Amino acid sequence: MARILILGGTGEARALAGALADMPGVEAVSSLAGRVRAPRLPVGDVRVGGFGGADGLAEWLRGHRVDAIVDATHPFAARITTNAADAADRCGIPLVVLRRPAWSSRPGDNWVDAANLAAAAGQLPDLGTRVFLTIGRQEVDAFAGLYAQWFLVRAIDPPDVAMPPQSTLLLARGPFAVADEIALMREHRIDVLVTKNSGGTQTDAKLDAARELGVPVLMVRRPPLPSAAATVEDIAGAVEWIGAVTR
Ligand code: NAP
Repeated sequence: MARILILGGTGEARALAGALADMPGVEAVSSLAGRVRAPRLPVGDVRVGGFGGADGLAEWLRGHRVDAIVDATHPFAARITTNAADAADRCGIPLVVLRRPAWSSRPGDNWVDAANLAAAAGQLPDLGTRVFLTIGRQEVDAFAGLYAQWFLVRAIDPPDVAMPPQSTLLLARGPFAVADEIALMREHRIDVLVTKNSGGTQTDAKLDAARELGVPVLMVRRPPLPSAAATVEDIAGAVEWIGAVTR
């Protein structure tokens, strides 16, 4: 049996675990960071919690005789992606990064590019005063120094970092419908949307809503991937890659 480690925390990672459950000659273990209180669990073996940096991960890989790694973490989870590339390289284990394509703008969109969250916080005052902040809960404090804006902060679990001084927290997990996003943005008189360029279909309804309402979108760019990383864009690509490296 070839042992596959899936670094997870995304819908794609769950879907891949499901696909590998039916693949002969392969056994997979999914790894979650443990950030979400009640995560949607993948099928099959699951482990939860950090490894202890690249060193800890390398030790874990050797101890569990992993044959191949699929890094199916979120496009903004840069640290685990760097650590995984480093540990895989040191252990001589093949690794592929499964990354859904980024969103790209369409006619009618008014997107403003931000290099990262700190830059976005600097750009925001020029764009609006009633902000829909949809960047997850971990880095909300990048906006905590903005006093003139009001924020609707949407996250799955409550942030444990500083919130912007004028803000309301909305706990919700996608997928979201366009009509609901439009109603929510109208209700709160949102005049700017802030999002990471996560890609995918779970949370893209807000982009359709912003286009429909003529609301600008401050779109935070993805962090770069490790330079040598092999990548695939979807589950089929990851399954094909696993088939090739475990043959
Ligand atoms: P990160 O900054 O890249 O990683 C921070 C640390 O968390 C890592 O060094 C590692 O700890 C641990 N970790 C991260 N992902 C892990 C995994 N799949 N299995 C075991 N340990 C993991 O990651 P993050 O941005 O905090 O994201 C954490 C998790 O949430 C990831 O699984 C990611 O896919 C998911 N997620 C992130 C976002 C986002 O916007 N960042 C959005 C949706 C889902 P050690 O160094 O101790 O190994």
